[in-house]
Amino acid sequence: MQEILDEIAAELALETERGTVADYIPQLAHVDPSQFAISLATVEGQRFSAGCATTPFSIQSISKVFTLTIALGKWGDGLWTKVGREPSGDPFNSIVQLEHESGKPRNPFINAGAIAVVDAIMMGHAPKETLAEILSFVRYIADDNSICFDHQVAASEMEHKDRNASLAHFMKAFGRLRHDVDKVLGTYFHQCAIAMSCDQLAHAGLFLASDGVNRPSNLRVVSPQRARRINSLMMMCGHYDASGEFAFRVGLPGKSGVGGGILAIAPGRGSLAVWSPGLDRFGNSLLGARALEMFVQRTGWSVFGH
Ligand code: GLN
Repeated sequence: MQEILDEIAAELALETERGTVADYIPQLAHVDPSQFAISLATVEGQRFSAGCATTPFSIQSISKVFTLTIALGKWGDGLWTKVGREPSGDPFNSIVQLEHESGKPRNPFINAGAIAVVDAIMMGHAPKETLAEILSFVRYIADDNSICFDHQVAASEMEHKDRNASLAHFMKAFGRLRHDVDKVLGTYFHQCAIAMSCDQLAHAGLFLASDGVNRPSNLRVVSPQRARRINSLMMMCGHYDASGEFAFRVGLPGKSGVGGGILAIAPGRGSLAVWSPGLDRFGNSLLGARALEMFVQRTGWSVFGH
């Protein structure tokens, strides 16, 4: 495995076409696009990594996997009255479908869906309390108490909130959000601004690769059924309107973020995190997806086989 990761990192280091760093969040525009990392945590407890795998980056929409997990813990199947579970076929920040479905977002991984999910987690609590809950969950599954919010990234997103604010107000107009829009948005931006390295992220995803059980602690995070369902949603919706393309090329449940990270789950085998800040036109990491494609080609770890 180490050899495979080293080969992928070495091959991609030569790549000159690296995509474009997200600049609609100005703080993310400062990130050096030449950085690359890949980490693998196996269900047996082995760890492998290549590149700058201990460098923290903004996990952005990858956080939506963790907030979905928390929300399902609180609401169970009741969550599906608030958010759907169908791929949207639209960009991550699209508003168009909301009007046709009475403000109900198509899935928990588009921005509208994640905003509805964090509203569901709040349940009358102040943003600070909700954020403490989200952070302690992420620290628990990553087994790392050093994980923090990047407040500068959160502030930068708050300053340029118009697009997400439109989604939130639109949903609120349909009676879909219970809390004050600015409080929901502030919470959402902070959840997206969690900073983690690939090593930490691969560890955090491990419960999804091992039927809901955290490793190496062996503590159950979710039931096997819930882990399977979260993986299905990642496969179908984790890359927005490029989810089909990601499934075609990689064939693993995956969730991307505009910080350039991707978390991918190989059920029964391991959890992979990749990071390359340059994005494709869908807002997904260009070389991150390429790295995962190279990985499954070499290992046969796609859920669809070789
Ligand atoms: N925080 C980002 C936003 O709301 C997350 C988007 C993403 O990572 N795709 O625009």
